[in-house]
Amino acid sequence: MRRRAVVVGAGIAGLAAAYRLDRLASQRGLDLELIVLESGPRAGGVIESSRRDDCLLELGPDSIITEKPWARALCEEIGLGERIIGTSPNCRQSFVALGNKLHPIPEGFYMMAPSRLTPFVLTRLFSPAGKARMALDLLLPRRTDGADESLGDFVRRRLGREALERAAQPMVGGVYTADPDKLSLRATMPRFLEMERKHRSLIVAMAATRRRAMGSSAGGAAEGSAAGPRYSLFISLDKGLSVLPERLCELLPAGALRTGAMVERIERSEVPGTARWVVQTLGERIEADAVCLATPAHASARIVESVAPELARSLNSIEYASSATVNLVYRRADIAHALDGFGFVVPAVERRTLLACTFSSIKYAGRAPSGKVLIRAFVGGALFPEACEMSDEAMTAGIRKDLGELLGVRAQPSDLLITRWPRSMPQYNVGHLGRVAHIDDEASRLPGLALAGAAFGGVGIPDSVRSGEAAAERLVTSLGRLT
Ligand SMILES: Cc1cc2nc3c(=O)[nH]c(=O)nc-3n(C[C@H](O)[C@H](O)[C@H](O)COP(=O)(O)OP(=O)(O)OC[C@H]3O[C@@H](n4cnc5c(N)ncnc54)[C@H](O)[C@@H]3O)c2cc1C
Repeated sequence: MRRRAVVVGAGIAGLAAAYRLDRLASQRGLDLELIVLESGPRAGGVIESSRRDDCLLELGPDSIITEKPWARALCEEIGLGERIIGTSPNCRQSFVALGNKLHPIPEGFYMMAPSRLTPFVLTRLFSPAGKARMALDLLLPRRTDGADESLGDFVRRRLGREALERAAQPMVGGVYTADPDKLSLRATMPRFLEMERKHRSLIVAMAATRRRAMGSSAGGAAEGSAAGPRYSLFISLDKGLSVLPERLCELLPAGALRTGAMVERIERSEVPGTARWVVQTLGERIEADAVCLATPAHASARIVESVAPELARSLNSIEYASSATVNLVYRRADIAHALDGFGFVVPAVERRTLLACTFSSIKYAGRAPSGKVLIRAFVGGALFPEACEMSDEAMTAGIRKDLGELLGVRAQPSDLLITRWPRSMPQYNVGHLGRVAHIDDEASRLPGLALAGAAFGGVGIPDSVRSGEAAAERLVTSLGRLT
């Protein structure tokens, strides 16, 4: 009997779910009609690349981390293996902005603590008092109660305020756009909790990890360990990350993807012998045997509200932050800084418009023609919620002031593109794992329904792919039981 599955949301989680549903159904001999409903005019969600003026701009994410293998594995499975590119082999360092100066992140320093002594002692990123406080980590006892703790509390407790303000907050802010005093360490970086549990001192743990990595890599390069720079772990695609959702769309059955289709709600179908769900869009009612909601948690909450109010309440308890990217193209000659790195992060205590900045055409080849530089500024996040509301003029003026002071940029950019991403970054606040367990529990009471996306098991592209694929597995299993 022919069955129908509807995926709501064509971000990377929804597309991964749709692709996997289609593959698994054909492998298991299920006759499945697939429909993907996307409210926007294009697929990809926050993944969007654009070619302008000989430059390749990333308007949303720009990198995939391969330490979490699911996105890379999917690229290879769908024939994009040859199109994967790594970060440039040169200039593999990043900076932290303090005052009007960019300080290189000391070699072997990872997120909040050092694994190497000499670069840490020599860096001017931290004051002598700040370094002395960080060294206290070597003596402090471990915490044993196992309670969830915010990143801010953890770093202040082990390494002191300066380590939080000048390193952990901006570095983590660049990834999670989070408030460190709300961000759950257990849900985002459990490896630091594990380090404390096992070794007591983070510095001892990181040095041990580094030594192990040096021992196991014949050439002695520590890249890829938890204790050092990890630039070789980041990849992109030759024509930008949009190549991934585009290819997934090509592989869907003809006509499966419907853009401009905003789902308002789902209802349970009460008629025995018919499909389990009715998906209501602005203009259509679609019956479905299986539904995957791959929309942001706040959108999924609205969609399930009438059928599962407790699930909707839990989904709504996941907060979201807004952000914006600003791509700027300059003549190389108009930037005084050596641009000998991949970019910089800005501590919130510096009170700048910029949250972080990527030297995109230094980080990846083929992003700008020779003589030009593509810079990607990142603004907003949980600590600067009003940034997304700024006018284009105010945002541009703030960024240009920051770039002038930090990179010595005096000229106007030859091209500039602002992209706003309202309520697009889920916040993994303290208690997140408990909230997700409750959501899973509530969702499991709704047969034929699965949730996917960045809100649950990891915010990046690899985890979003994994959540889409896991949702597809569950739905195909439940469809198999129907036949
Ligand atoms: C600016 C920015 C930079 C980032 N940088 C990186 C990075 O470099 N590396 C990395 O790994 N991750 C990065 N991330 C995170 C990562 O890109 C996202 O978490 C991931 O792409 C989310 O995918 P998703 O499918 O869960 O959600 P989304 O991409 O948000 O997709 C959800 C889709 O659902 C649609 N939708 C919503 N409501 C409805 C409805 N009612 N009906 C139908 N459709 C609906 C939306 O239009 C959207 O297309 C970044 C995120 C942002 C915002």
